[in-house]
Amino acid sequence: MAVPARRTSKTAKRKRRTHFKLSVPGMVACPNCGEMKLAHRICKSCGQYKGKEVLSK
Ligand SMILES: [Zn+2]
Repeated sequence: MAVPARRTSKTAKRKRRTHFKLSVPGMVACPNCGEMKLAHRICKSCGQYKGKEVLSK
C-alpha cells in the first residue's frame, strides 16, 4: 500500500480545507406570507405552494 512520502504541512492542510465549507439549504421567502421556506417545497407556515395548493391542518 502506498504511504505518503512526507507529512502534510499545516499550511497545505489548511489550504485544502478552504474548499470544504458548510452548504446552506436553498431558502426563499414565501410569496404569500413572506416566511423563509425551502425552495420548491410547500410553505410550512401558510401551507401554500404556487399560490394555490393548500395544506389542510
Ligand atoms: Zn407562506
